[in-house]
Amino acid sequence: MLDINTIAELEKIRTPFYLYDMELLRKTVDEAVLMAGRYGMEVHYAVKANSDSRILRYIAGRGLGADCVSGNEVMFALGCGFPAEKIAFAGVGKTDMEIETAVSHGIFSLTCESLQEIQVVDSIAGRMGVRANVMVRINPNIDAHTHKYITTGLDENKFGIPEHEFDALAGLLSGCANINFKGFHFHVGSQILDVGEVYSLECERARAVVAFFAEKGLHATNIDLGGGLGIDYRDPDAHPVPDFEAWFRTLQEGMSSISQEGCVRPSVHVEPGRSLVAQCGSLITRVLYVKYGVNKTFLITDAGMNDLIRPALYGAYHKVENLSASARDCGMKTYDVVGPVCESSDVWGEDRPLPESVRGDLLAIRSAGAYGQVMASRYNLRDFAPSVYLDRLCEVPDSMKMVKLA
Ligand SMILES: *Cc1c(COP(=O)(O)O)cnc(C)c1O
Repeated sequence: MLDINTIAELEKIRTPFYLYDMELLRKTVDEAVLMAGRYGMEVHYAVKANSDSRILRYIAGRGLGADCVSGNEVMFALGCGFPAEKIAFAGVGKTDMEIETAVSHGIFSLTCESLQEIQVVDSIAGRMGVRANVMVRINPNIDAHTHKYITTGLDENKFGIPEHEFDALAGLLSGCANINFKGFHFHVGSQILDVGEVYSLECERARAVVAFFAEKGLHATNIDLGGGLGIDYRDPDAHPVPDFEAWFRTLQEGMSSISQEGCVRPSVHVEPGRSLVAQCGSLITRVLYVKYGVNKTFLITDAGMNDLIRPALYGAYHKVENLSASARDCGMKTYDVVGPVCESSDVWGEDRPLPESVRGDLLAIRSAGAYGQVMASRYNLRDFAPSVYLDRLCEVPDSMKMVKLA
């Protein structure tokens, strides 16, 4: 909820831009850190959700680790202050160069996703004369009850090693001289709201996997249960900070009965992305035109699917707010809010009730802090929307100031 003075400051900035509320980020990280301490979780922030350097430096400064999915993310995370021993690196298609980068920095773990990748990591580490820290990603075959594009833990998904290869995996790991086996990794999907059910099931599978390999002499010292905690896109102001308590409690309870003959308890890791950063970001855009269709009224904005692709890619819902109208006394209308890009999927929302809106009004597309700016493209040769920070509005350079609409 922004006050009138803040909105007046935002009105002066050229749109579109991403607005980050660092105070909300602080509260969110506070809660995650508090609950991680209470339930014994080690938290690695999933850098791919938002790699804005100020956000990364802030999260690194709070002592969290990083979860990366490319060599560039590993390098960037290191540059933003994440220590190598807290960086995990997952992904089904790491290149030899990316593996060398990770191995040479001695990161916490390379999370291997196929038998062949384990062989390649072993041979690269051997050539470099070091031992590579490796976690093995297992495909737990669990339905996360989320969008099919963000479900990752089913047999039909490309991620992780499936059960029918477990025997071969055990044999392979025992024979790799240049690998330091650290444990198992699971990640079942994203925007998971069914916390109790999905994560209890994940823990059950994790316990079974640990027990199976312990019997073959492979002891896990770490279990990484991935990310995926969902957020409230419908009503971000009602739930600005996700329920880390419920998530971590479910995981802790789920892992409490883990048994590994004669071994210490593995430490438990999580990799939240969306839940840490989604609510602190909004995409701020202006209404360029109000257009009267046959049965619809369109608000056409200056931000498009190139700035935030989630609605076009997943049919994702983002709440749209008219910031300028909060200072006016006006009735409600129903609008289709759409972007300027030459694709019919470039739609923010259909039949949205909003205060009567006019050309020049500022709109906030809420909950855009995760998988927003990081997925932007220059499609249609449009410019990238820059970052603006709510606590640093006075530092916005003149070059980003608004040119008045005609
Ligand atoms: C994307 C990803 C995450 C983060 O998922 P969120 O839903 O944003 O919490 C964690 N781990 C891995 C391996 C991922 O690919």
